[in-house]
Amino acid sequence: MPEQPKSKHITWSKAHVGRKERAALLGHGSGTVWFTGLSGSGKSTIAMAVERELFQRRVLAYAFDGDNIRHGLNVNLGFSPEHRKENIRRIGEVAKLFNDSGVIVLTAFISPYREDRDAVRAILPEGRFVEVFVDCPVEECERRDVKGLYQKARAGKIPEFTGISAPYEAPVKPEIVLRTAELAVEECVDRVLRELVNRSWVAS
Ligand code: ADP
Repeated sequence: MPEQPKSKHITWSKAHVGRKERAALLGHGSGTVWFTGLSGSGKSTIAMAVERELFQRRVLAYAFDGDNIRHGLNVNLGFSPEHRKENIRRIGEVAKLFNDSGVIVLTAFISPYREDRDAVRAILPEGRFVEVFVDCPVEECERRDVKGLYQKARAGKIPEFTGISAPYEAPVKPEIVLRTAELAVEECVDRVLRELVNRSWVAS
């Protein structure tokens, strides 16, 4: 996939309304909270709960969920390492646009490769990417088997299933670690909200 525009005649046009102006309009800052972890670890549950809590506080946030994006923007991508990389790259670019527009983005994708997550971190402004490792043993994820996918993967019906037949690379220095086999959902949500307050993205 190209990293430079295909045409030489593409130029960058500067925004007329800046980040600070949008933050003043909305009354809060923006950035991306990137949840990563195995299927069933709790990414969507926590991201949706944080989104709801922020909404109640009149903060504009938007949660991107794994399967939904694959129904539209990334409909042409599968689960090979190359396609997973492109999946994450596109999501990162969309997150960046949402952040530029003033919205806090919460992403809930397995995003198993460290390099792909680091590439998203690299395109966002310094301090605007919060990596949340949703840390849950594969045995517990398999016990939960929210969507019945582990059962299918064990039966050989899903090739390249993360944690079973495809790798998961845990973050080395995530901003937050949530051990969801030990913590309640509310405790996880509180931890994320505290981080957003500490970063002054939202008021306490
Ligand atoms: P993922 O988005 O990572 O695939 P889901 O959020 O869809 O995972 O599913 C996680 C499951 O684990 C849900 O059924 C949720 O109720 C349960 N769960 C138990 N404890 C937690 C926790 N602390 N945080 C998030 N989910 C939890």
